[in-house]
Amino acid sequence: MTKKIFRNCLAVGIWVFLLSVALFMGMLYQYFTGRLTTELENEAALVAQGVETMGMDYLEGLRASNRITWVDQDGTVLYDNTADAATMENHGDREEIREAMLGSQGTARRESATLSQRTVYVAQRLEDGTVIRLAGQQHTVVRLLLSMVQPMLLILAVTLVFTAVLSTRLSRGIIRPVLELDLEHPEENGGVYDELSPLLTRIRRQNDTIQSQIELLRRRRQEFTALTENMSEGFLLLDQKGRVLSYNTGALKLLGAQPPAEEANVLTLDRSDPFRQVVSQVLEGRRCQGRLERNGRSLQLLADPVFRDDACAGAVLVLLDVTEKEQGEQMRREFTANVSHELKTPLTSISGMAEIMKDGLVRAEDIQGFAADIYKESQRLIHLVEDIIHLSRLDEGGADLEKKEVDLLELARTVQERLRPTAGQSGVELEVSGEHQTISGIPSVVEEMIYNLLDNAIKYNRPGGKAAVTVSGAPDGVVVTVSDTGIGIPLEDQNRVFERFYRVDKSHSKEIGGTGLGLSIVKHAAALHNAQVELNSTPGQGTTVRLCFPK
Ligand code: ADP
Repeated sequence: MTKKIFRNCLAVGIWVFLLSVALFMGMLYQYFTGRLTTELENEAALVAQGVETMGMDYLEGLRASNRITWVDQDGTVLYDNTADAATMENHGDREEIREAMLGSQGTARRESATLSQRTVYVAQRLEDGTVIRLAGQQHTVVRLLLSMVQPMLLILAVTLVFTAVLSTRLSRGIIRPVLELDLEHPEENGGVYDELSPLLTRIRRQNDTIQSQIELLRRRRQEFTALTENMSEGFLLLDQKGRVLSYNTGALKLLGAQPPAEEANVLTLDRSDPFRQVVSQVLEGRRCQGRLERNGRSLQLLADPVFRDDACAGAVLVLLDVTEKEQGEQMRREFTANVSHELKTPLTSISGMAEIMKDGLVRAEDIQGFAADIYKESQRLIHLVEDIIHLSRLDEGGADLEKKEVDLLELARTVQERLRPTAGQSGVELEVSGEHQTISGIPSVVEEMIYNLLDNAIKYNRPGGKAAVTVSGAPDGVVVTVSDTGIGIPLEDQNRVFERFYRVDKSHSKEIGGTGLGLSIVKHAAALHNAQVELNSTPGQGTTVRLCFPK
């Protein structure tokens, strides 16, 4: 812009100079022509007067600087001070002569063949009809210009330098306020140029629009980040060349990778074959899945291509940690197999004994014994089915069970009463002590927990032994302790006794009617109440299980 203003100023300067020169020359020329004509007219009037009084003698005695011609009425040249009149052609057709003959005076101007000279003619008619003509020489404009080329070039050069300096300062002066405009706050540039006001208003509006769009984008970005960062799944967005456009921390955690560099290929995060295959397939526009093993976890990889204008423009990869799901499936499979096995054993004995009785192979005195066995086996079945029902209810989260204020000491006493006959049969002494402490819980489930623990404390005890329940308050909750003086649990089994159907001594447990589900139910029920279960046991001395309920 500065250059353009500079060039324009310079052009204006040159044009003004040329126009001034042309006008000046024209006016000067007009002035000199006018003066020459007036001089010639005055001289012609004097010569005419002289000729009228003295005739040819006057002319011959005259020393004139201009050319003087005397022409007769018919155009014949009577006298010429610069040429031989006799040899001169008839002048009757000359413009100035004709004009003078018609009126009293005539003027004409004629350029020489080279255009370098101009002749001004003034003719004056005498009384007798003859005409005196005076001719004066004058340089033409072209000649005048040519003669002034040198000084004019000098003036032009000075003008150019002067104009260039002025133009530079002028253009800088015009541009400076524009350059100093504060486009961030266009409305604060008042008084710069009125012509810029609409532009500044527009810039302010556009600034506002850009700001609101940036804000909108920032919010969208925040929403997107909040969404992707708070999901446990891994998320990767790729372009059509497999470069990572976006990712969440979950993806890096699951893949055990470092944050990728800008525009890095997704394969820098994982180079395993299954990952490569999924990436290459999805970038060919095919939806696909894969499975990866990372850091001991099972990952499922879901890949969906992103299409734009019918062409694959990228892909979305979602990584799911399916370890728990797979373990759960595995557990369910094992549970089903175990349940079938546990149900089959008593059913087989019941069926076997019933078959022998049906075939009449049992003596009358043995029938009672057989019936007692069948009763025992069916009781086992009932316990097993009850435990399975409890467990599956807890697996479902106990949503249908309502939480209430529960007095744990009262509940322990109820359990004590329920188990008193069993304890009596086993010769185990029962004791419940402690304070009245309440928690918010599902009464039937908490009772089941204490029942299972106290039942174990009796079952895995020795005759004359002791089983005790204590309820006590702790700074952060309530603790129920169930202890016994029984056989104890070996250290290597202490972590596994909470697994479903796990028993330390299978045959002993079965013998005393255990299902192998009691502690699993305790563990699930504790989770439902956000309670902690701690087990301490010394083989041969006894076991203590602590249930820590939060307040
Ligand atoms: P079960 O119905 O067989 O008792 P549990 O899940 O209640 O099943 O217990 C699992 C296993 O843990 C039992 O078979 C037993 O071997 C062991 N166990 C549980 N409680 C005690 C305890 N108080 N003393 C000794 N062993 C125990």
